[in-house]
Amino acid sequence: MTFALHGIPVSKGIAIGKAVLISRAALEVSHYLVEPGKEEAEAQKLLEAFDQVRLELDQLRHGLPKDAPQEMAAFLDVHGMILADPALAQKPMQLIRTQRMNAAWALTTELNDLLEQFAEIEDAYLKERANDIRQVAERVIKALNAQKKEALSDSDLLSPSDVGVDSIIVAHDIAPHDMLRFKEHAFTGFVTDLGGKTSHTAIVARSMEIPAVVGVRHASEMIRHGDWLVLDGERGIVVVAPDESLLEDYRKLQNQSLKEARKLQQLKHAKTETLDRVDIELFANIELPEDATQAIKLGAVGVGLFRSEFLFMDRHQALPDEDRQYEEYRRVVDLMHGLPVNIRTIDVGADKALGAGGSDVSQTGTSPLGLRAIRWSLTEPEIFLTQLRAILRASAHGQARIMIPMLAHAKEIDETLRLIEKAKMQLHSRGQAFNPNIQVGAMIEIPAAALVLPLFIDRFDFLSIGTNDLIQYTLAIDRADHAVAHLYDPLHPAILYLLASIIDQAKRANVPIAVCGEMAGDPSLTRLLLAMGLTDFSMHFSQLLLVKREILKADVGMLKARISRVLKAYEPEAQAKALERLLA
Ligand code: PEP
Ligand code: MG
Repeated sequence: MTFALHGIPVSKGIAIGKAVLISRAALEVSHYLVEPGKEEAEAQKLLEAFDQVRLELDQLRHGLPKDAPQEMAAFLDVHGMILADPALAQKPMQLIRTQRMNAAWALTTELNDLLEQFAEIEDAYLKERANDIRQVAERVIKALNAQKKEALSDSDLLSPSDVGVDSIIVAHDIAPHDMLRFKEHAFTGFVTDLGGKTSHTAIVARSMEIPAVVGVRHASEMIRHGDWLVLDGERGIVVVAPDESLLEDYRKLQNQSLKEARKLQQLKHAKTETLDRVDIELFANIELPEDATQAIKLGAVGVGLFRSEFLFMDRHQALPDEDRQYEEYRRVVDLMHGLPVNIRTIDVGADKALGAGGSDVSQTGTSPLGLRAIRWSLTEPEIFLTQLRAILRASAHGQARIMIPMLAHAKEIDETLRLIEKAKMQLHSRGQAFNPNIQVGAMIEIPAAALVLPLFIDRFDFLSIGTNDLIQYTLAIDRADHAVAHLYDPLHPAILYLLASIIDQAKRANVPIAVCGEMAGDPSLTRLLLAMGLTDFSMHFSQLLLVKREILKADVGMLKARISRVLKAYEPEAQAKALERLLA
């Protein structure tokens, strides 16, 4: 039966393909297709893991102290019985043999199905058994993981497109680093139950130029593995089991948008200036060094934001040391051929967790108000100094610049600048090359920073407005929480007031000012930002030409004359009218 689900569109385009369900547990396990011919060996692994857990449970049962509560033995008996039921292994074995899923993936898929069936049961006692099944399955997954001594490499993660079908990932939630793991693999779309427009997961999906819809409540429960899906990343719609005529309509739309994208390519070499000849600079936001290649191809005049923390988020690896970081930063600098590269120092916490090497501290930043970004770096001065030295060393090869996230206090700024000087001294005494005049910039993304801008203007070489966080903190909404996603409003008068004021103050002081949050890459907001006097935009490269098209059509002189009305309008109706006039 055809039905549609609605969510928040975060990465445009239309994807048509079969659903690949990644369960919550499955995100903790690897999911890949085993090589043809190796299905039986994989099925054997699953059976061995079952045997191992059976043994563990027996040992636990027999090792129970005499005075152990009776429930303990009963509980182990129940788990033993669940494990002994051949039905639990049957379906996963089938999935391994027919769909070539790896064992852990097959088992979590079956687990999901079972949990769904249990959710429909009224009987409270039986309902409770769902938990037991989950626990048993998790034990088996643990045993499977232990069998696989080495972490799975990305090359093991084959996409189902290798077997000739376009696939769309459906998950409850995907962490930004998991999203990156999918980058290498040819999935054609993403659907998640959770997430907001500027969650880091959404940002990475956009950077992969793959249609994505997030915040589609219950998608992972309502969509079944293998369902045909149409994902409309423009309107935030996911159509499940579309009929032939709908498929036809969407294929037409898909073709149309491909044609438009091709037309847009013609703008690549056009000079970025407005109708009244104001030069505008378009920079790129990147998450991985190799993204710089695309940035250059699309005409970016530098990297306005390199989210360096993505180098630190691999669960299977220790934190990169100074040499490895230096290599990565240098790669970007080299790829950008002398153009500026703003390397933002590590911004972990909130919706981004550190990888294996930082596990002892990765828990601390789970709240967006917690120990995030520079706050965390200042509590880990050795990790911070390592990163600063790596960036400084890269600055010997081109225009690497340091950009600091989430500053609010004068003492944080002073401590940061002191550590930058210390890193320089360390390199100096080692005799290693760096640019002693490296530019240091600050992100303005906490309202407090916006309200005391002179503090930043006096101490930094350049500023960049992180609108994603500025909106999050000004409006007090967690940007990754779909429950408040509807309150995430870049046009809130308070946001417009702050933006206009930051841009104006920085321009008057002659300090370069850019916007590097998602607002900069939203073509529907380009003219508004131009009207505020913004000339430096940094966005994901997939947005560059769309924004450029808006710039080429804009007249800054006229826009500036109309902005004050917008800024004075607090009532929604008055604001809508003023905006309409501005954009007319
Ligand atoms: C921002 O906050 O706007 C920003 C660019 O940084 P991030 O999205 O990585 O927090
Ligand atoms: Mg930010």
